[in-house]
Amino acid sequence: AAGKWGVVRSELLNPKSEAGACGSTFEDVPHITDWLPDLETFPNPLKFNPAYSAVKKYFVDDDDFVAKDIVVNMENVGSGLHFRRAGPRDKIYFRAEEVKACIVTCGGLCPGLNTVIREIVCALWYQYGVREIYGIDGGYRGFYARNTITLNPKVVNDIHKRGGTILGTSRGGHDTMKIVDSIENRGINQVYIIGGDGTHKGAEAIHEEIIKRGLKVVVAGIPKTIDNDIDIIDKSFGFDTAVEEAQRAINAAHVEAESTHNGVGVVKLMGRYSGYIAMYATLASRDVDCCLIPEVPFFLEGEDGLYEFVYRRLRENGHMVVVVAEGSGQELIAESLSSLDKMSDASGNRLLLDVGLWLCQRLKEHFLKVHKESITLKYIDPTYMIRAVPSIASDNVYCTLLAHSAIHGAMAGFCGFTAGPVNNRHCYIPISRAVEKQRHVNTSDRMWARLLSSTHQPNFLRYEKVLEEQRVQREKDSNSHGVDLDQQLPG
Ligand code: ATP
Ligand code: MG
Repeated sequence: AAGKWGVVRSELLNPKSEAGACGSTFEDVPHITDWLPDLETFPNPLKFNPAYSAVKKYFVDDDDFVAKDIVVNMENVGSGLHFRRAGPRDKIYFRAEEVKACIVTCGGLCPGLNTVIREIVCALWYQYGVREIYGIDGGYRGFYARNTITLNPKVVNDIHKRGGTILGTSRGGHDTMKIVDSIENRGINQVYIIGGDGTHKGAEAIHEEIIKRGLKVVVAGIPKTIDNDIDIIDKSFGFDTAVEEAQRAINAAHVEAESTHNGVGVVKLMGRYSGYIAMYATLASRDVDCCLIPEVPFFLEGEDGLYEFVYRRLRENGHMVVVVAEGSGQELIAESLSSLDKMSDASGNRLLLDVGLWLCQRLKEHFLKVHKESITLKYIDPTYMIRAVPSIASDNVYCTLLAHSAIHGAMAGFCGFTAGPVNNRHCYIPISRAVEKQRHVNTSDRMWARLLSSTHQPNFLRYEKVLEEQRVQREKDSNSHGVDLDQQLPG
């Protein structure tokens, strides 16, 4: 049955197993035979590939699923969500000579994009014998506005050592009809789409239009988000590289802060809605005194506010480092800059206000006004330096697995999926499910507690109360203002 998220194949539930009976859901991805039931199948050429000859079990079983919740107790064994396990299948739906694959990258830069491109090309070429692979130039609009780039192992050989994407990327410009026209006209039958939430929404629209037209075309997504904010998958590629590179910025801020009296280093890291990079960079570095993330709204005033904490830390240590995720404190800033908060980019994403600059200004003013002393503040925003570096070793290996999962899935006829690890096993996840919800740092989880206990920063639990106090104060101010005005009125 077609569920809200892809296909829930209830026939896979084993009626004899108690696990099935106690509410497991097998959330499957669409398959090309859902709309083209009579397609011919072919044996997977991997079986004859000498590199894989020592592999004991070549192929993933068709009823292998991966449990989302791995920690279970006796009462819920086997219940919960399950996703189809990724990997090569013994039967495939495309002959090598017939495949015409294309790859497109959209959205912001992220370390590892080139590695994914390289591995899709090399694995299609060497594992499946595919010879026609094209790159779409400059994101979605490249489908209809530009020529394609011919890709082969020679062209992509060194690209994993470079940051960015050799294909170029863009925001906006998604036109489903024109894109599917272009896919149809060029005879493309495998579409690999690498991008974030917006890109995947676009991929879903392309996949649906392909079904409507009854084309033999599969769409496979590879999730890209440097912020690590895709729910379900364990981690996104580029995240480890970003945390690693962030250490250099934090270190620089620390060296600067340590070298002067009242030295404060402020580092702004990526994280529009999820503070994972800031949290992991802080946990890894040990030089950070305070980490601000969007999930924990902070306030400045009061005993347990940020000003007081900075003041105390400077008294104790003479210097301090603050890491602030780009999406933090947006409500606080919006109060002072209300006209700017509705700006958005070409894809319709809301543009954020610069919390780093704002915070620096506030801290400097506060120290001069309240403590009658100045602080030496150094602000570092390494965002574009981090996004542009090539991926580190662990991300390169991860990108390879993602690319392989995607091509095995596409060759086996799965589509409308995005590939990613769930509990360390690569899976095919229905696109709509993958982008349905953003992942946020769970502040009632042990990881955030570890951070608090390593920085000893305020936990800002009083936030709601502070907001209420401020609201009451504002009301009082405006009322007294009103009375004053009244008193000035003649008569
Ligand atoms: P990131 O936010 O991590 O940089 P993203 O994929 O979310 O990556 P966006 O700029 O939001 O980046 O979107 C990338 C592409 O997807 C753009 O070309 C945009 O037109 C298209 N897109 C975004 N949202 C949608 C949508 N709801 N439907 C169709 N296409 C979309
Ligand atoms: Mg996005």
